[in-house]
Amino acid sequence: MADTLIRRMSTADVGFDLALTTLLDWESASNPTVAETVAKVLAKVRAEGDAALLEFTRQFDGWEPESAAALEIPRSRIQAALDNIDVDVREALETAAERIRAYHQHQCQESWSYREADGTLLGQQITALERVGLYVPGGKATYPSSVLMNAIPAKVAGVDELIMVSPTPKGFVNEMVLAAAAIAGVDRVLTIGGAQAVAALAHGTESIPKVDKIVGPGNIYVATAKRQVFGSVGLDMIAGPSEILVICDGKTDPDWIAMDLFSQAEHDEDAQSILLSPDAAFLDKVEASIARLLPESERAEIIRQSLSARGALILVDDMDEAISLSNRIAPEHLELSVDNAEQLLPNIRHAGAIFLGRYTPEALGDYCAGPNHVLPTSGTARFSSPLGVYDFQKRSSLIGCSAAGASELAKVASILARGESLTAHARSAEYRLLGGENE
Ligand code: NAD
Repeated sequence: MADTLIRRMSTADVGFDLALTTLLDWESASNPTVAETVAKVLAKVRAEGDAALLEFTRQFDGWEPESAAALEIPRSRIQAALDNIDVDVREALETAAERIRAYHQHQCQESWSYREADGTLLGQQITALERVGLYVPGGKATYPSSVLMNAIPAKVAGVDELIMVSPTPKGFVNEMVLAAAAIAGVDRVLTIGGAQAVAALAHGTESIPKVDKIVGPGNIYVATAKRQVFGSVGLDMIAGPSEILVICDGKTDPDWIAMDLFSQAEHDEDAQSILLSPDAAFLDKVEASIARLLPESERAEIIRQSLSARGALILVDDMDEAISLSNRIAPEHLELSVDNAEQLLPNIRHAGAIFLGRYTPEALGDYCAGPNHVLPTSGTARFSSPLGVYDFQKRSSLIGCSAAGASELAKVASILARGESLTAHARSAEYRLLGGENE
């Protein structure tokens, strides 16, 4: 593979199945040295609170906060970032936010209930989480779009308090991230990151209250810390590297497809970009486009490494085979670059987000179409869904028995409880029997 920009494969190759399994294989972030470091950071923040946050911020982010108060960005400063940002950037953020909000409002769940003939009421009550922590990565790059994508569904769900944490290496605060926080309605912004920020949110410190759930992506220290605090606090997901799978009938401009593959590959060296097409000549053209467009790309080196390590152009027999392969891969992002893409939808079983037609590059979904860009990776789209309003709401079940209804249910409960030798349960139910000796 040394001199190949991207591997070529065909489902007709001998050993294709094994080659595909190897291509998709991703060892999720589990590194014993990192796990040990993270465990120590978590324990210290739990024991020493703000003092440990100050120490780790000095050590890992390279700046000197004077006190715990210096770790919080005042609301006036957050608003000033929005007021002073370039007008084009502000308008783009506001347009994206409005579209994300409108989309997520469709996800709001309603409480419901029904009454049985004897007057018993059954139902489900929806409530929002009270306090959520949002991790916004800030080590090597900054992600204002992630602020919008994580915070807006929480606010739409009705979360009371949203606390955002984001490291500021060398004390450098990103104005666009602050402006996005202001637009999204984030309540507090703290300049802490890594495992120490996850610990503070999960357990609380003198200045930071414990949250109910932590959402948002991060590097291996953040992901490992999330794994270690699971149980004390709710989590969204532990995301792996980003992926795109494009299915193309061969009729889209090959440059467009090459750039769509790049748009994933530029995230990081471990990102995965795969193209499936039944047209071998088209795959040749996309390969030529990749070779021509790569050198002029700003993140050429990351793209080159990602495509050569984990990318593939795969020749399939026909569209049916492309779709069954896509269902096997269960990609985070699936682009259907074909005519009448909607007709393929009934056959798509597993994908985080589906982009329909040649005019829907994944990049539009990443920023501003409306649906969430936090999606299941590494095949987990088989059993999980994009981040949404649902992740910030809970369901409580409702049971309200009438006297007649309780009596009927008590007969059933009593038998089952005695079968389990739980006599207090049985007697509690039997007290509600009507016309019996307990009345
Ligand atoms: P980050 O904020 O996740 O991590 C920075 C923090 O890591 C630092 O504050 C520090 O506390 C900690 N850290 C760094 N080195 C350490 C060490 N040696 N020991 C202990 N702690 C250490 O920012 P990042 O590093 O830029 O990583 C961001 C990650 O998030 C990337 O992997 C990126 O791909 C991912 N990401 C994913 C999505 C998504 O939607 N899936 C979106 C944006 C970013």
